[in-house]
Amino acid sequence: MNFESELKKGNFLISECIHCKIIVWPPSEFCNQCLNENSWRKCSRKGKIIEFSKQKETYFCVAEFEKSIKIMGEIVSGEPKIAGQIYIVDCGIVNENYFLKMRVLE
Ligand SMILES: [Zn+2]
Repeated sequence: MNFESELKKGNFLISECIHCKIIVWPPSEFCNQCLNENSWRKCSRKGKIIEFSKQKETYFCVAEFEKSIKIMGEIVSGEPKIAGQIYIVDCGIVNENYFLKMRVLE
């Protein structure tokens, strides 16, 4: 599996070391602790808002997933609040940049 080709299809994957059981982020084929090969699995789409900001009419946030990785995304619906729950509705690659679209869970 390949992180970017799956992301293009809307699947957000994370790499996890089968030996240390840690999530390796940014995604990589090899564990950055023990250098063994990682396995790939879908990341939980539910995360927690760490911080957010507003640019023009759009909210952006940094959210934490799987209690481990922090990723930036655009909020497409809902009013964010710190520590609030968020859900990844879409992801992909545009102009070689990753994007994540999230909505606030009430
Ligand atoms: Zn490892």
